[in-house]
Amino acid sequence: MTRVALVGCGGLGVPAAWTLALGGQRAFRLIDADVVEESNLHRQVLYTTPDIGLLKAARLAEFLRAHFGADVQTAATRLDAANAEALLDGCAAVLEGSDDALAKFAVNDWAVAQPRRRTAVIAAAIGRRGQWFAVTPESSCYRCLFEAPPPPESLSTCAVAGVLGPVTGQVGGYAARALLHALAGQPDAAVGALVRFSPRGLLRTPVAVAADCLCQLHAC
Ligand SMILES: [Zn+2]
Repeated sequence: MTRVALVGCGGLGVPAAWTLALGGQRAFRLIDADVVEESNLHRQVLYTTPDIGLLKAARLAEFLRAHFGADVQTAATRLDAANAEALLDGCAAVLEGSDDALAKFAVNDWAVAQPRRRTAVIAAAIGRRGQWFAVTPESSCYRCLFEAPPPPESLSTCAVAGVLGPVTGQVGGYAARALLHALAGQPDAAVGALVRFSPRGLLRTPVAVAADCLCQLHAC
């Protein structure tokens, strides 16, 4: 059974998991160290007041098992460059939807690692905007666009800057759809492209392969 890892079980991870399950995905690995907080409830719509203090990964796993009969593994930890290979072992694809920029680059680097490139969709949302990018074995990668993580002091997170609840639902759903398409070998606008969601609509920016990018290091 093809296993998909979700990094982040919050505003993006919840609608993404739901969309993946509705699309037929039945094997998951949920990676998130956070517990449900009251401030999450407006956008992380699976969780309710009695869930406050519970691990998000465990609560989302319970939902996927109960409603879809899914095979769900959980890891209550933060993914980073050092543990990505072990945490994602056995997964065919990853949907990265945490608010941790370093995790996004770690997932990208896992996807482009040789000898066998893999599939990942990297998504983010903040304020009234969101974006997602699909990395496949043939596409450009996240580092072709963003060479390296930004300095920590320049980063804003949902916890600080806020995010409009419905935006996360939209972006999480779109990101999951991109992953389903990639796994099925079907075209998707986000493969090798940054798709941005804003109140004005969707904007797609194709990303060319950068010759000096990590994803080209050992490419033939
Ligand atoms: Zn690249």
